Formats: sequence, C-alpha cells, structure tokens
Amino acid sequence: DDRVVTGELQNEDASVELSLRPTILKQYIGQQKVKENLSIFIQAAKMREEPLDHVLLYGPPGLGKTTLAGIIANEMGVQFRSTSGPAIERAGDLAAILSSLEPGDVLFIDEIHRLPRSVEEVLYPAMEDFFLDIVIGTGPSARSVRIDLPPFTLVGATTRAGLLSAPLRDRFGVLSRLEFYETKDLCSIVERTAEIFQTSLSKEAAVEVARRSRGTPRIANRLLKRIRDISQVKGEEEISFPTTKLALEMLQVDDEGLDHIDHKLLRGIMESFQGGPVGLDTIAATIGEESQTIEDVYEPYLLQIGFIQRTPRGRVVTTKAYQHFGVKENDQ
Ligand code: ADP
Repeated sequence: DDRVVTGELQNEDASVELSLRPTILKQYIGQQKVKENLSIFIQAAKMREEPLDHVLLYGPPGLGKTTLAGIIANEMGVQFRSTSGPAIERAGDLAAILSSLEPGDVLFIDEIHRLPRSVEEVLYPAMEDFFLDIVIGTGPSARSVRIDLPPFTLVGATTRAGLLSAPLRDRFGVLSRLEFYETKDLCSIVERTAEIFQTSLSKEAAVEVARRSRGTPRIANRLLKRIRDISQVKGEEEISFPTTKLALEMLQVDDEGLDHIDHKLLRGIMESFQGGPVGLDTIAATIGEESQTIEDVYEPYLLQIGFIQRTPRGRVVTTKAYQHFGVKENDQ
C-alpha cells in the first residue's frame, strides 16, 4: 500500500535513494553518538590493519542503517556487499557469498533477524573464527568440510535488537541503536536533498517538512519529493511555506506527521477500548494490521512523541493524544 509516512522502503524511493545516500561519515547527518563510536572503531581497525569488528545496527525502518553500512565500507576502503536475511535460504547460499569476499570486505545483511536458523548456525564460526563447516552429501557418505574464509566485517541491520537470537547478538562487537532524528537534523537532511534535487525551499518550509517526517530521513525525502511536484505545478521558484502546508494537507499528513493509519490505530483504542490498556494482538485484529508491523513500524514513533504508552496490561492512549484529536477523555 502506498503510505506516504511509512519508514519502510516503497517502490518510488528506490531510484531516488541511491543519489541521496551520503558516502562518508562526515556527510551523515545526526546520530552523533553512533557516529563518534564508529569513527573511533574505524580508525583503530585501520591503524591495526585489521577488519572492523562486526556491527549490529538496529532501529525503525528509514533511519539510515543501510546508508551507514555503506559508509563503513567506504571509510574502511573495502568493498560493500549487500544481501538480506530472507534472501539467504540455505547454508550453501551463505557459503557462496562468504567465500567470494575479499579480505576486509563489508557484508551487509539487512533484516538479519529473518535468517533461517540453519543458516544462522553456519554463520557463528564464520563470524568468530572465519571458517565454515559445511556438510557435503547425505547419509553414510556425508562428510563435513572446513572452508577457510577471508576475514570480513558483518554489518547486520534489524528493527529491534531483541528480534535476534542471543547467540547471534553476542557475536557482534559493536551494537549501535539508531534514534529518531531531531527536527534540526532532519531539516539539514531536507536542505541537502533539495540541493541534490536542484530545487530550493524556504527555511520555514524545510522546518515544516522536518517536523512532520516522524523523525525519519526516508519520510522527509519522500515528502519533499511530493511537495516539490506540487510547488512546481504552481510555478514557484522556491518551495514556499504555504505550499508545503497545502501539500502536506493534500497528502493527509497531519500536524504531527501522522496519517490515516495512525488515526485508525489511535481512534481504535480510544473508541473500542476506552483508551486502553489493550493488548497488541487485539489492536491488530481490530484495525486489520499485523501485530509485528504495528510494533516495528507504526508504534515506535507514537511512543516517542508520547501518544501511546506501553503498560504491563497493554497499550494506553495518552492525554496528549486525546488532545491532538480534540476528544474528551472519559474516565472510567
Ligand atoms: P534503513 O536502512 O534504516 O531503512 P536507509 O539507510 O535506506 O534506511 O536510509 C533511507 C534514506 O534516508 C537514504 O536514502 C538516505 O538518503 C537517507 N538518510 C538516512 N540517514 C541519513 C543521514 N544520517 N543523513 C542523510 N541522509 C540520510
């Protein structure tokens, strides 16, 4: 479905994103702590002439995990190879990828929590001691073959670190959690993107896009692209604040950056469950969405801005959310 404020990758993003990806750490805006840490680890690894430790990046979609993985490879001066958990179906698929790496290369595995368990087990010795134990043949003629690998850096990405099995998580030397971006950082990202698009926008317009992008660069860039179209049709030389507001209204993105799905979620809890507490699965069934999608994609931002709270008995809609909708909270 084409949701304009989802952090998940949509078809329309793919071609544009390549041109928008920063390639060095200095161009990567925000995420100060993550950058500082990585910068030290990268420098140290280079001084020792060793590959960088394995890195796990986690956080909601669209915050820049893939981008950062590419930057790590670039800063280390090695090749970047990219795949995803669901794409690696069998141990043999993984063996083929790993044995084709050059020493020091970065292998990026997106959605690493979706690796099949059988593949995961082959990955452990590869990460720890750079070898593979592969079983060849079946029955009495089956034998185990050891394949040595070049040292490499695995960069894994996932929405929540908790989705990984403990043995896999423990094999990462560096765990970095990406946070939602502050408005000022998103504003810089929007301005940078505008420059790449060869358009300009007023400061007020940039702040407005930033403010309504749910702390997510992918959403900010997508909104900017849509707003630019509308501004162009209006014949503007510079994307103005009024046009930005109008465009966001047309896109049905509200003042907090929420859309119809957020509204359905929040109103669902307010109207069917008196504001909660209500369990995640019940909410999912009520509004017809998957629990996991709600938990990993919709909910994190609603928690961040304090519209929802997690309690032991389920999700609760806060007073702040009631105020946003102009609905009276009924105490019961
Ligand atoms: P993820 O892998 O977390 O889903 P991506 O790395 O694909 O996110 O980032 C989505 C888009 O947002 C990229 O195309 C990139 O241009 C932009 N982006 C992400 N983080 C930053 C950043 N820190 N600075 C500038 N642009 C960014």
